[in-house]
Amino acid sequence: MSTECIFCKIIAGEIPSDKVYEDEQVLAFRDIAPQAPVHILVIPKAHIASAAEVSAENADLAAACFVAISRIAREHGLDGFRVISNCGVEGGQTVFHLHFHLLGGRRLGANLL
Ligand code: AMP
Repeated sequence: MSTECIFCKIIAGEIPSDKVYEDEQVLAFRDIAPQAPVHILVIPKAHIASAAEVSAENADLAAACFVAISRIAREHGLDGFRVISNCGVEGGQTVFHLHFHLLGGRRLGANLL
């Protein structure tokens, strides 16, 4: 756990969240500023700063996030959805704990943004 990380504080229960899924490795909760009818953040419980920090040693945690993503999408009845992970300041990342935005619930355009 990183003591300065807001998502680590959510995992620890020090900051409240609207939790939709949890297992040993993964937590998922609704984004506080939703960009789509369904906007859920899926994060590993272990602190990984960003997608740039994913390696052979921790790839199982990233994989666990994707297993959770398909499960959550199914449970929310999403036919299609988008997964985004902003990486680094240049990539638009504002919270430096690896997270995957799961977006859906409306027809998303072909463009990324
Ligand atoms: P990013 O800009 O890709 O790093 O995404 C960070 C996301 O975290 C943004 O979409 C924020 O709205 C979201 N966020 C920040 N603080 C919270 C919080 N306490 N609970 C839920 N979502 C949050």
